[in-house]
Amino acid sequence: MKYFILFGPPGAGKGTQATAMTEKYNLRHISTGELLRKEIAAGTELGLKAKALIDAGSLVPDEIVEGMIESEFRSARDIAGFLLDGFPRNTAQAEDLDAMLAKAGEEVTATVSLMIPDETIKERIRHRASIEGRADDANDETISNRIATYHEKTEPLIGYYRNSGKYNEIDGLGTIEEVRSKIFGLMDKF
Ligand code: ADP
Repeated sequence: MKYFILFGPPGAGKGTQATAMTEKYNLRHISTGELLRKEIAAGTELGLKAKALIDAGSLVPDEIVEGMIESEFRSARDIAGFLLDGFPRNTAQAEDLDAMLAKAGEEVTATVSLMIPDETIKERIRHRASIEGRADDANDETISNRIATYHEKTEPLIGYYRNSGKYNEIDGLGTIEEVRSKIFGLMDKF
């Protein structure tokens, strides 16, 4: 099995590119953000707990997202691998993922990191708010907190995956098609 990590700040275009990547390489897309939004929409206890944290621009507890990831790993059939989007989001999650995969004799194949500057993050999220209607996209304070959370908790993963030789960065500026063809050029190697 292949385990690709789609990495990047909020608004980098991970969701947009994920569909094309999963289709071309027969991967299962696992977006922890989407899974959490489903729980919120279904009004579950987990969803309720997650909503307050998501609206504050914070991360939800590691156990919650890791439980979701494990159950997605277990239920997948007839695929070449997984595309993890929004996970791992801090060093503890990255270490837990490595342990989870090691138990199954597997490992992370590569990270595909889409990079955009902070100013672009805000522009893109504001634009998305008018299309998708996500509560965490509509509030300026939430957006600023998400960017701060990204720099503080998630960005250190760049060093983590660089150290293991699994970090690959792509410029996330440019048209959707331009970014997509760069991603394909990279993924063809794995
Ligand atoms: P974006 O990439 O635009 O920030 P996501 O849909 O990936 O959006 O995530 C939305 C929110 O869900 C995050 O701001 C965070 O609160 C929560 N979340 C998603 N994935 C994780 C994770 N792996 N660990 C903790 N919280 C997460």
